[in-house]
Amino acid sequence: MRTGRIGHPEGGTSPDAPPSPRLARDLERLAQRFPYDRSLPDDPLSLVQPFAAHPRSAEIVGVFAATMAVGNVQTILGSLRSLLDQIGPDPAAFIERFDPVGWRDRLHPWKHRWIRWDQMGFLALRLHEIYRRYPGGLESVFRAGMEEGGESPEQAFAGGLDALSRALRWGSLDQSPTFYEPPAGYLNLFPSPLAPGRPTCKRLALFVRWMVRTAPPDLGLWRSISPSVLHVPLDTHVYWIAKHVGLTDRKTRTWPTVTQITRALRVLDPNDPVRFDFALAHTGISGDCPKHRDAEVCGRCALRPDCDLWQGRGGLRRASRGRDRASPRTPASVRSSARRAGSR
Ligand code: SF4
Repeated sequence: MRTGRIGHPEGGTSPDAPPSPRLARDLERLAQRFPYDRSLPDDPLSLVQPFAAHPRSAEIVGVFAATMAVGNVQTILGSLRSLLDQIGPDPAAFIERFDPVGWRDRLHPWKHRWIRWDQMGFLALRLHEIYRRYPGGLESVFRAGMEEGGESPEQAFAGGLDALSRALRWGSLDQSPTFYEPPAGYLNLFPSPLAPGRPTCKRLALFVRWMVRTAPPDLGLWRSISPSVLHVPLDTHVYWIAKHVGLTDRKTRTWPTVTQITRALRVLDPNDPVRFDFALAHTGISGDCPKHRDAEVCGRCALRPDCDLWQGRGGLRRASRGRDRASPRTPASVRSSARRAGSR
């Protein structure tokens, strides 16, 4: 049975600097004009959506997809398709019947960049354990972590991600010893925002965005969690644009940067602070933002009035000057090279 949503904004922390009305207007324009239909096929979410009618399978595919969301988007999609081929048409049944004996070779020889088949086999084993231990699945794990985390959206969300990290690493929230030792590198796939170094936990935050947000393209399967607690999955593209339009002044991509950007976005939309995430990320992935001043490409950018690089302000002007004068690139070539290199 669903219970009341938790994590509605109750005041929270004030943003370090509220976004200007102009930036609010321009982000709205970006989101309204954004060609979602063009970019969705370039997102791992496109391979999770077909399972939306089967929440457990969607959750499972979502975890695998988000865990692999590093590097070139076309490579991610190819790797995910080949993994799904091995998992079969019913991921929930695959996990439920997952036989711990032989897990190490179950998905051999699948590989995506440094992520190996034995790590994905172990993830399947952990999911098998989690669903046996927590019938409410990863939603209930996340919700328990939020309740442990604290009252504010920041505390609650960090607590939820920490709980997912613990469960996916250890198979339970209490990190009780388990029979099977994880393969080398497995634990690093699921960092916690509470760990030393305060990592951004982009992949887990992305997975939670897919599960919680109810507006397209996200799936809205975790109905007991309010979208108001979500934090940005801070990839290189979102960070780059956020920095250049003044949503953060932090020089590193860490959890405090995530919270600073999210606080600013929460001022714009307290109920859905990551509403702009897909458009911001795919502006970079698709090559709509060349990450240098380009008169032709930037001419169509809704964020141009806010962009330090376009406005030629401060140290950013030095970085852009040469590219601005010399750039022979066309919008098509920019998009083409970005799609080759584009990553989530
Ligand atoms: S103005 Fe140009 S460089 Fe700045 S965000 Fe827009 S496309 Fe990117």
